[in-house]
Amino acid sequence: MLSYHQARETVISRISAIPRTPETEVVPLREALHRILAQDIVSDRDYPPFHRSIRDGYAVRSADTHAGAQLKCIGELKAGDPPTISVAPGTCVQIMTGAPLPDGADAVIMIEHTQRNADTITLDRAIKPDQHVVHRGSEQAAGKTVLSAGTRIGFAELAAAAQVGAANPLVNRKPRVAILTTGDEIVDFAATPGPYQIRNSNSVSLAAQVSLAGGEPIILGNAKDSLEDLHAKIAAGLGSDVLVLSGGVSMGKYDLVEPVIKEFGAEMIFDAVAIRPGKPVVFAICQGTFETQAKPVFGLPGNPVSAMVTFELFVRPAIDILSGTDPRSLPLIEAVLTQRLSEKPGLTHFLPAILECGSPAAAFATSDTPPSQQREPRSRTANPPPAPESPRVSPIPWQGSGDVVAMAHANCLLVVPPDRETIEAGERVQVLPRGL
Ligand code: AMP
Ligand code: MG
Repeated sequence: MLSYHQARETVISRISAIPRTPETEVVPLREALHRILAQDIVSDRDYPPFHRSIRDGYAVRSADTHAGAQLKCIGELKAGDPPTISVAPGTCVQIMTGAPLPDGADAVIMIEHTQRNADTITLDRAIKPDQHVVHRGSEQAAGKTVLSAGTRIGFAELAAAAQVGAANPLVNRKPRVAILTTGDEIVDFAATPGPYQIRNSNSVSLAAQVSLAGGEPIILGNAKDSLEDLHAKIAAGLGSDVLVLSGGVSMGKYDLVEPVIKEFGAEMIFDAVAIRPGKPVVFAICQGTFETQAKPVFGLPGNPVSAMVTFELFVRPAIDILSGTDPRSLPLIEAVLTQRLSEKPGLTHFLPAILECGSPAAAFATSDTPPSQQREPRSRTANPPPAPESPRVSPIPWQGSGDVVAMAHANCLLVVPPDRETIEAGERVQVLPRGL
């Protein structure tokens, strides 16, 4: 059976090998968050566009400055003003943060280092040339690339694009990810379930995971555990760029997803990975014709935590590639285990857990409140900060892969490697922080 690393690598190599013609679209900058740039963004002007003061103070000739020097203030410049005044020897100009440095001046002395008496400014120190001045074009020269094609746009990238006037960037189209849940017992989450029915939580969590990963969720609803209904709904799902199913991939008599995917000529690439939760996860590719593109299909187990974990491990890198960017690596970090663990060997376990990050988290801890519910520091008084310590991770009690409430209270998954039956308190383990 494949390890989760091998299964991820398989997904990445097989999806990267599907020939694709990237589709692009122009979007208003405000809607470009998390999109992938399809074109370089180039600076339309030098930035800063003028020699900019970065302090409130006085624009001076540095050669004039020494402790006790007296300069005559001959005017004032605020941000947005053109620098029409010129600083001659023995003079200065009051200047605000963001204003252009006037001719003659080569530095700014902070207001805190001066005293004013009418028009006479007395300095308490000497300053060097260029002090508190950022030169024109020193952050970004006109015509230079600010953000390259393939960049994922976050809030800082939005600001960089806004600064150079890229109001309508060209981005890759989001991959359309069809979501189909399965199960005779499943009802819409807004419906009142019968005594043995289950609300459809996977449909909403998977759609959220697709959005967070940068895809466009297409919610197909729920298929009954019948060959006919599955066939019809899977056919519809194959119209999207990827199809993600939940449920119906285990060994039960009514687990029919695999045989129905095969009816579409799918190549089954794997149907089990050595993990818990999520072992029966399926990855297949429906081969394309000259009219249609090859379509990746993921059959995730129906248990809600299994569906979440297998999505993060296997579907997320697929969405990255189909978005036109490199797959993001798993953000694994190391932490110290707080209690002994014992799990079945041979599988990599992903356990809902609470990660506390060293001393800042310790300052938030109270003895009787579980870490997930701690919001406010115990006190803001001047206790000396504790010595830095490693992040610590504690598994939280859970009932297995159906226990979505435990997952909702966790902030990470603790990774137990397959070659360890027990791990002692104090040992270092890997942790996968949970996205929100
Ligand atoms: P399955 O993988 O179809 O055998 O389902 C495993 C378990 O997950 C069963 O207890 C199902 O009722 C539950 N389950 C399946 N699909 C969903 C869903 N969409 N939302 C919530 N629970 C589900
Ligand atoms: Mg089922």
